[in-house]
Amino acid sequence: MVISAPSGGGKTVVRSGLLDLDKRFAFSVTCTTRPMRPGEKEGRDYFFVTTEQFLKMRREGKLLEWARVHGNYYGTPVKSVMSVLEQGRIPVMTIDVKGARSVKRIFPEAVTVFLLPPDLKTLVQRLKGRGEKPENVAIRLETARSEIQVASKFDYLVINDKLPEAVREVAAIADLETRKTRRNLDKVKAFGEQLGRRRPR
Ligand code: ADP
Ligand code: 5GP
Repeated sequence: MVISAPSGGGKTVVRSGLLDLDKRFAFSVTCTTRPMRPGEKEGRDYFFVTTEQFLKMRREGKLLEWARVHGNYYGTPVKSVMSVLEQGRIPVMTIDVKGARSVKRIFPEAVTVFLLPPDLKTLVQRLKGRGEKPENVAIRLETARSEIQVASKFDYLVINDKLPEAVREVAAIADLETRKTRRNLDKVKAFGEQLGRRRPR
């Protein structure tokens, strides 16, 4: 499950709510060259790497996708996603819109969700509330302009007004998606095989 939003749109808090709500989900930790923010933890929020380490991973094909956002590199290690899938859980990726497109190209079965605050005023308040300096708010709003232009390419749109509701909506999307017939053909096949083995009366 890929969640994108303009900066301040709520990716981090929705992800955190989702992981608390439902044990089916696990965060696939990504790596970045940006400095650690206060309160962040290595390996929990990101793998913090140097530019050389990042470029080496990229060269060696260890990144599923990557992007440069606000002057820093970000990328999803293939390993992070595979280890979650191997546990039979749903990897949650909170990445930028370019990354979301790359993931969808590589994994067409990925589900993409675009989060939007109810209005621009709320987005600005939330960015300021997170402690972003005015110049950083301005940069993020400029980036948001191009980000919302690709919102229509996402599978789902969730309005992040009341946080618990937004989290529930994302979980509900996963509920429906996991019930898609094409994701459950093994069960249909198993039932068909049982029918095939049944002796006619
Ligand atoms: P992103 O990860 O997309 O940049 P965050 O998750 O950091 O966004 O959210 C930006 C700020 O807005 C944070 O301070 C967060 O606590 C706050 N926020 C996000 N969603 C809500 C919401 N539904 N209600 C109130 N505050 C919110
Ligand atoms: P921040 O620095 O605020 O944590 O993140 C900046 C932007 O980079 C956010 O939109 C975030 O979702 C995105 N991002 C984080 N990790 C990755 C990643 O691995 N790949 C891509 N494409 N974007 C990422």
